[in-house]
Amino acid sequence: MIDLGVPASEIADHVRDGEWSAEAVTRASLEAIRGREDLNAFLHVADDVALETAREIDQRRARGERLGAMAGVPVALKDALCTIDSPTTCASKILTRDGVSQKTGWRSPYDATVTSRLRNADAVLVGKTNMDEFAMGSSNENSAFGPVKNPWDPTRITGGSSGGSAAAVAAGLVPVSLGSDTGGSIRQPSALSGVVGVKPTYGRVSRHGLVAFASSLDQVGPITRDVRSSARVLEVIAGADPRDSTAARVPVGRYEEACDRPLDRLRLGVPESYFGDGVDPEVETSVREAISTLEEAGCEIVPIELPHTHYGIATYYIIATAEASSNLARFDGVRFGLRVEPAHGDLQALYGATRDAGFGPEVKRRIMLGTYVLSAGYYDAYYKKAQQVRTLIRRDFETAFGRVDVIATPTTPTPAFAIGEKSADPLAMYLGDVYTLPASLAGICALSIPCRPAKNREGRGELPVGLQLLAPSFGEERLFTLASTWEAASPARGNRPPPAGGR
Ligand code: GLN
Repeated sequence: MIDLGVPASEIADHVRDGEWSAEAVTRASLEAIRGREDLNAFLHVADDVALETAREIDQRRARGERLGAMAGVPVALKDALCTIDSPTTCASKILTRDGVSQKTGWRSPYDATVTSRLRNADAVLVGKTNMDEFAMGSSNENSAFGPVKNPWDPTRITGGSSGGSAAAVAAGLVPVSLGSDTGGSIRQPSALSGVVGVKPTYGRVSRHGLVAFASSLDQVGPITRDVRSSARVLEVIAGADPRDSTAARVPVGRYEEACDRPLDRLRLGVPESYFGDGVDPEVETSVREAISTLEEAGCEIVPIELPHTHYGIATYYIIATAEASSNLARFDGVRFGLRVEPAHGDLQALYGATRDAGFGPEVKRRIMLGTYVLSAGYYDAYYKKAQQVRTLIRRDFETAFGRVDVIATPTTPTPAFAIGEKSADPLAMYLGDVYTLPASLAGICALSIPCRPAKNREGRGELPVGLQLLAPSFGEERLFTLASTWEAASPARGNRPPPAGGR
């Protein structure tokens, strides 16, 4: 009997050993996806292609071939990752032909590097997940194809921008998904959906084939239900890539092995200022409880300061929008997706008409903001200043990591909020990113892992809470060791959201 709830690493081991067929596992996943269309987690399901891949994997095993580390594991990819055999839309109308449906989505002529590495490791790619348009957002409400619902409470957001990826794993539709994290988009939806999400060090994973949002910040990373599976996936997708000069030539760590290492008197830094105003009391209690448990497990707790954190939001929303305004200039009706012919006018009019019809309001807001902060007369006051503050934020971490090995914080200030609650107030939405942005600006690695859930005050049941762990650049092994220790002790261990219609 196939149980998609077991860790991905175990599924791969069962398929390798021939206990489970890749085809049966894939069928189970496709069925689960079909059973939860209400969540709106998927923009494309690759039924036939996935089954064909699975059957090939089974045949290769039957011929005695040794299968890869992801043998037969169904994986969902955020729709910002290019796939040669399915559409890629970034949840934007501008990457569709008809300006309406994801079914007419743009077809990439190549696979992203992470896509091909997963295929080479014998993963089965079952579909593309919903997201905030071009990864801009924290709630998945900015998707042109509707919001993703939180499997714990469908009246609530599941976080963003990799909301579909997080919800798909949380609801047990796939054991693994990939997301992208520019300022928190893997960690935040993972926290709000009750799963594990890893933002690797900038440069750890190739960005080739990830549709660019803010190139100095973007990273691809795994979302899974358990720590070991994330470790295994990262080992598969990480490493240098001739197609991305920012993919560092740093040897890939033994992440899975790191999950079994003892803690060894790790110094755990706690920035007290992260527990001030604006944090939900239940989130605070839950994260503090996790820190005490880690202390009992042998960590030395060290109070630290990250004094420039409160500039993180302003800094990020200048740098990220500036880069986005440049990156998104390529969507103009000429080469990709939508083309809106203006009634009259020249090429400029074509650009204007296409971009006006194709981009949603948040993307337009960011392009305008980004263009503004880069423009002559404002560049020094905004963009240059933001780059300077970015350096200060990075130095905060350098100083802190002189004294501690890992830093622990909440991933988000509150549990998942209601769909619609913040959509009219972009600033309120941006403020929720306060804890995830600094690690992105500093380029260090971070992950989010469930801790004790909060009460769902308006609904029934519980809402997930995330513990964020941060380590210096290329310190992923340390993160996995600590996260595994926490996972074994976590009160959230084994928690599952209710089934469809369960509330
Ligand atoms: N929520 C942040 C934003 O809207 C982060 C998004 C991301 O990491 N892609 O920009």
